[in-house]
Amino acid sequence: EEKDNAELSTLPPGSLVRFRESEWDDNVGYFIKKKLRVWCRMHDGHWESGQIKSTAGEKALVLLSDGSVVTVPTQELLPANPDILEGVDDLLQLSYLNEPSVLHNLQCRYSKDKIYSKAGPVLLAVNPFKDVEPCGNDYITAFRQKLLDNPHVYAVAETAYNEMMTAKKFLVMICSGESGSGKSETAKIALQYLAAIGGGGGGIESEILQTSCILEAFGNAKTAKNDNSSRFSRVVQLAQGERSFHIFYQLCSGAPSDLRGRLRLKKASDYNYLNQSVCLEIQNIDDAQKFHMLMGALNTVNICKEDQEHAFETLAAVLWLGNISFLVTDKQNHIEVVADEAVINAASLIGCSEQDLILALSTRKIQAGKDEVTRRLTLQQAIDSRDALAKFIYASLFDWLVEKINVSLSMGKHNTWRSISLLDICGFESFKKNSFEQFCRNYANERLQQHVNRHLFKLKQEEYELEGIERTKVDFEDNQSCLDLFEKKPTGLISLLDEVSNLPKATGLTFATKLKQQLNAHHCFKVDRGGFSIRHYGGEVLYDTGEFLEKNRDSLHSETIQLLSSCTGELPQYFASTLLKQSQSPQSASGQLAMLSCQRESVATKFKVQLFKLMQHLESTAPHFICCIKPNSKQISGVFEKDLVLQQLRCCGVIEGVRISRSGYPIRMTHQEFTRKYRCLLPENMACQDPLSMSMAILQQFDVLPEMYQVGYTKIYFRAGLIGALEDVRKQIL
Ligand code: ADP
Repeated sequence: EEKDNAELSTLPPGSLVRFRESEWDDNVGYFIKKKLRVWCRMHDGHWESGQIKSTAGEKALVLLSDGSVVTVPTQELLPANPDILEGVDDLLQLSYLNEPSVLHNLQCRYSKDKIYSKAGPVLLAVNPFKDVEPCGNDYITAFRQKLLDNPHVYAVAETAYNEMMTAKKFLVMICSGESGSGKSETAKIALQYLAAIGGGGGGIESEILQTSCILEAFGNAKTAKNDNSSRFSRVVQLAQGERSFHIFYQLCSGAPSDLRGRLRLKKASDYNYLNQSVCLEIQNIDDAQKFHMLMGALNTVNICKEDQEHAFETLAAVLWLGNISFLVTDKQNHIEVVADEAVINAASLIGCSEQDLILALSTRKIQAGKDEVTRRLTLQQAIDSRDALAKFIYASLFDWLVEKINVSLSMGKHNTWRSISLLDICGFESFKKNSFEQFCRNYANERLQQHVNRHLFKLKQEEYELEGIERTKVDFEDNQSCLDLFEKKPTGLISLLDEVSNLPKATGLTFATKLKQQLNAHHCFKVDRGGFSIRHYGGEVLYDTGEFLEKNRDSLHSETIQLLSSCTGELPQYFASTLLKQSQSPQSASGQLAMLSCQRESVATKFKVQLFKLMQHLESTAPHFICCIKPNSKQISGVFEKDLVLQQLRCCGVIEGVRISRSGYPIRMTHQEFTRKYRCLLPENMACQDPLSMSMAILQQFDVLPEMYQVGYTKIYFRAGLIGALEDVRKQIL
């Protein structure tokens, strides 16, 4: 059987996603003769392995592994890989790189707790939902000393570290994958390795590790899909089964009594921003204990006691803001603020008078000709302005905290001429209902995917050029036109969204109509039920335009800004001054205030600008890619749902990535390696030549067709599958 497999591997390599039909037709007979295994697509779309018994026209009779026989159209068959390739470390080694083969390989490995695999230069990490890989210092040392070379995050970190130290100065490890796939854990494992080998004993390693505890408390929340998901913008609204940011629950259950008193803190269930989703606890998580760990971490990274107190005051203020209620007083729905403990506590915590807070939440000044008139707000306007204030305060608190941590970590350490960045980026998302959040993150993923593909493509070309071998055309599907759909000015999605967001009376429907007028001809775009759909590299996503405008506007009125700048609380004041600094207007402070409410950048534009900065940084760094995969949606160990994994492999562009890496001549060896292995196949008298000549002699000896290989200065390159044949001859001779 091994011989059959070897012969099989001399077949031309199949297409990577689908075996090319023409090739497959030529080879079906061969598969029947040699009783080779195939993948057979069943009615429900899943793949079963089997053997073709016979074919008649377009149909094949296939014996499945469970003993049953089915008749299927031949286009529903794909070649399976020989047994010797089962569970290979690197997908590049597969003779047939089709989807069922890739899935089968990953599943084999996963069932043996081998969660890491390689897809060429990309590391795949399948979330085990349990502790599987040994870690700790012994394991780190083993990778350091190259005693281990199996696919692992440690190995990627080791390579990145060496590159940083020897040649390239700026490195980045990019963890991508959907929510709950293990990006943050993977980034932490990488950080653990880097801290262990590069910390130099200065203590910075423990500071860096502790930062993840702080960032998680303030930046992560429970979602339906992941108990510990990195999120943004969820302070004021929660869906069933979700929680707000961990820190709120940690504070409510863990704050010591004196702090509770100062913050006038109640239980989490007493706050509207926390109790609306009927989900206050996470199974097996003790929020009070987490709060103590957080305090420890804040101390480790030298956030002083006063600053900690300011941060907690700010958090409590956000919670109290959420409890402020309104009373409708007339038919026009105008309101009054209920002057209860929520107003008193919120005002006291941010450091303003209750009256100022009430005015800011219930009225708005409007320019009428030369005069300024004060208008009362309606219920919805008041709720929106309260929530906008809470969101703004929380977002500013997060930025402030990151700034503090960065200052603390860089204190006295100026070695920024070399670095390894760890990027933990939110993955491609597609739900039944997709809104502005998915729009932003899928746009970011579209950009990142282009970066990955272009990089892999470049690597391949550079390697061939360096080796002086004939230029091989490596083509790949570039997603530039989808990016143009988002970014083009003035007719891209973001420009049009901003344009419509600026119209006070516009609705989601206005936006949808505008898109239809401007973009209907774009091949990645379609006006669809209640919104529009985009053909992303990861699949088509239908977006609902319903809340796009509100989410994009993120409006903060001048009253609110004025209120914050008049506060005596240290952080609210700082937040207001940062906001003013960001505005480039040369006018006086009060003039700026008035202008800010209309001039503030939209969320989409801000997101785009930040993404461009990130991409600029990535362009100047040498990347290493880790693609995280969630094996099941129940967050449990031992279950591998093939459909879910396949969808993610497509979204991460893994198969396209391997296709790029495999195009041309995927298997390479140095001349030394090649001759060491196969010199035994040559007559005695030829064995003393230099490695390059010897390589050539071996190839001639076996009549290897010239199109199957390329000879470089230091390495020799083969088409997929050729090595199997040589191996077979070698085994027969030995
Ligand atoms: P993401 O950042 O992609 O949203 P996380 O890194 O938060 O996902 O992972 C979600 C959960 O999966 C974690 O809370 C943890 O329980 C589990 N997990 C992820 N990676 C690992 C791993 N390498 N080993 C053990 N458990 C893991």
